[in-house]
Amino acid sequence: MKAICVIPGKPNSVHLREVPKPGVNDVANGRGVLVKVLRVGVDGTDKEINAAKYGAAPPGYDYLTIGHESFGIVQDVGESVVELKRGDYVVATVRRPGSSLYDQIGTYDMTTDDVYFERGINLRHGYLAEYFVDSPEYIVKVPGGLKDIGVLLEPMSVAEKGITQAFEIQRRMRIWRPRRAAVMGAGTLGLLATMILRLRGLEVCTFGRKQAPYLNAQLVGELGARYVSTTETSVATAAKQFGPFDVIFEGTGSSVVVFEAAENLAKNGVLILTSITGGGKKLEIPADKINLDFVLGNKLMFGSVNANREYFELGVKDLAQCKAQFAGWANKLLTHPVKGLEQYREMIDLLTTAKNAIKVYVEITDDAIREERIEEKRAVPVML
Ligand code: BGC
Ligand code: ZN
Repeated sequence: MKAICVIPGKPNSVHLREVPKPGVNDVANGRGVLVKVLRVGVDGTDKEINAAKYGAAPPGYDYLTIGHESFGIVQDVGESVVELKRGDYVVATVRRPGSSLYDQIGTYDMTTDDVYFERGINLRHGYLAEYFVDSPEYIVKVPGGLKDIGVLLEPMSVAEKGITQAFEIQRRMRIWRPRRAAVMGAGTLGLLATMILRLRGLEVCTFGRKQAPYLNAQLVGELGARYVSTTETSVATAAKQFGPFDVIFEGTGSSVVVFEAAENLAKNGVLILTSITGGGKKLEIPADKINLDFVLGNKLMFGSVNANREYFELGVKDLAQCKAQFAGWANKLLTHPVKGLEQYREMIDLLTTAKNAIKVYVEITDDAIREERIEEKRAVPVML
């Protein structure tokens, strides 16, 4: 089968390759689930992997199949699989367990091992291929009613984890009623975090660099949140006007913004850090002031990476509520479809240069989608 791969360590090595097609029997004890891939989203991590700043090939391979934002349809299951069946729409989680206690209880996103395994990123092949196989523990069912936006579930899970953990941690306050939130970054992750916080009833201020009007700012507005361009208004000015921010979600990919966020967090507030910053940036910061404010204000900042299936399942629920509450909103994030694995060049070009892209994603099995449509039409229920 065809797959989009890179040679880790070699910049701009993205290419199409013929790789072995997986089968249900690749997973022991009849627990295999073979998934036909329909769509795969790409993000900054894929960009960094292709730039050879991040990522590693699985042991025994000199290449890595990339892609970690999956969406597919179950094609076949092993004889001991009861959780899923042929025809189910699914998304696979990204990380696979290592050896720490956290890994062994299903919270592999909290591993304390030095080495971590992530499909499409680190030491495990990913989903930008025609098929993948895995065990049902790592595959989350997506209701058919969400199949148009199911490809957003992986980035959604990253936002869900950060926000859920923030609320969990804040139980330290006994009573914590967050009212105002800020989201740093108005890309896919920032928009999804804005949506989740709006679904929780918070007032949200979402920061982006670009000046409105543009699509991302419009999407923030459609959620009843406020878009602020940092080109026009500093975070400090906005915090005075629209804050104080009880929760700040940072996902811009820039460590500079982290400290700006820290300086503008409310007393007793919580700052969620999710940016993967693979570079070597150094920065001068008002360290005494930030520290003093954190101490005197009982503030907290924590890092959050990846997500286990609990957060994918939560993501499914929130995508469904989003569809009910903000109909058609999530679809507008899917700005740049790429038709077929063969167009891997276009995929990387859009990812690196398209200025107005929110989500770039590859439509892998066009005919699978068409086939389903035909089946749906055929299955018109007879109601008497
Ligand atoms: C992925 C996460 C992953 C992280 C670090 C992100 O792009 O969405 O699942 O844990 O990169 O590799
Ligand atoms: Zn990602």
